[in-house]
Amino acid sequence: MKFDTIIIGGGLSGLVTGISLAEAGQKCLIISAGQSALHFFSGSFELYGCDGAPLESIAALDATHPYSKLGVEQIGRLAEQVPQFFERMNITLRGSALRNHYRLTPLGVLKPAWLTMDEYVRVESADQMPWSRVAICDIAGFLDFQPDFLASGLAGRGVESKVVTISLPELERLRNNPTEMRATNIAKVLSDDVLVRLAQKINDACGDVDAVLMPTVVGLLEGSAVEQLRRMVDRPVQFVATMPPSVPGIRTQITLRKRFQELGGVYMLGDTAKSGTFDGDRLTSIRTANHGAVEFEADNFVLASGSFFSHGIVASPEHIYEPTLGLDVDAAGERSEWYERNLFKAQPYMTFGVSTDSDFRVRKEGQTLSNVYAVGAVLSGCNPIKEGCGAGVAILTSMHVAHTILK
Ligand SMILES: Cc1cc2nc3c(=O)[nH]c(=O)nc-3n(C[C@H](O)[C@H](O)[C@H](O)COP(=O)(O)OP(=O)(O)OC[C@H]3O[C@@H](n4cnc5c(N)ncnc54)[C@H](O)[C@@H]3O)c2cc1C
Repeated sequence: MKFDTIIIGGGLSGLVTGISLAEAGQKCLIISAGQSALHFFSGSFELYGCDGAPLESIAALDATHPYSKLGVEQIGRLAEQVPQFFERMNITLRGSALRNHYRLTPLGVLKPAWLTMDEYVRVESADQMPWSRVAICDIAGFLDFQPDFLASGLAGRGVESKVVTISLPELERLRNNPTEMRATNIAKVLSDDVLVRLAQKINDACGDVDAVLMPTVVGLLEGSAVEQLRRMVDRPVQFVATMPPSVPGIRTQITLRKRFQELGGVYMLGDTAKSGTFDGDRLTSIRTANHGAVEFEADNFVLASGSFFSHGIVASPEHIYEPTLGLDVDAAGERSEWYERNLFKAQPYMTFGVSTDSDFRVRKEGQTLSNVYAVGAVLSGCNPIKEGCGAGVAILTSMHVAHTILK
């Protein structure tokens, strides 16, 4: 089977790459082993987690960082295209690369963010909250949202909160088995007339507040349920992330996949790329776990297999390696140098990943492969947790590599 481009990994990076190439008419295959970081999504894409202007902090990063390979000018240009890219799938993102805003974490803490989904709380200035009194609307028996933490965080910023707990008989049924009381299961129940009754209960309970804050338990498959609820509640409704699974993250993953498939892309869910056949500096085909001896051929290949979390990079007791194609990795040799004993310090292993040239072409046994690129969390040189750059690196390297392939 022959494609223009084969992408290994169907998370944010793989899908942005695939959609960008398919929009330009390429025939693409995405092979996706399973869940991605989007299933744990906070609702905000981070470019660089600093107060103020992220591009200024990015300009000071060292040469090995993926952002330094892109260059600040290109980052600014690509970042401007990102909201339109997602808007084409009816995913509305608010924010700008010129200045970070803040998202509200489930613990009531403000964190810098680049683009935040429209339904989530977004605060422009950490010194000035947009409300003086809110209702925090919890669901009875839901353990993955802690309104008291949120209320305490808000109180520290001068916002008074009234915690309201809503019960609906349809949700009570989920409580027969506590493991069923998860955000995704609640979202499956909250539609049609149940959503109407939820809105009525919120209106009855919340009273005179500036806004209603809710856990993200609405709109698993599409955003229309969110809009419906917002129309029916007589105060502005804004959402705050729950513990995983992330309802808006899963919706985003489904929406991106649908867009890729509508553009003619082939998405093989639940399959794993296992090995490749090389001819000199070129990868000619790959094999997968489910398709045995079938060779999937392409002109170009993109590795979007994520970091340790998604098994795009693996650590054995002795060494760090890339398991699919045996690519070169940038990692410290000695195990004792992989981590910092102080858990809260920047962990070196977070920066480990595949080694690439300035155009994100990968290397194998010291040789740069001419038709294999890496994008997103599998790349070396950045620490998404300490730097707050995860989605920025994922989206912008994917767009850059798609442009390079299309040149
Ligand atoms: C738990 C978690 C939460 C995060 N939340 C945020 C957030 O809210 N905001 C933010 O800005 N950043 C966040 N990040 C940073 C995150 O890394 C990026 O935002 C981005 O989503 C990474 O996307 P990715 O596609 O590169 O990797 P991943 O999302 O890890 O996706 C890689 C995919 O490749 C698949 N795969 C791996 N190997 C193979 C193979 N051999 N064959 C086929 N498929 C394979 C995996 O199953 C997975 O689906 C988070 C990271 C983690 C780990």
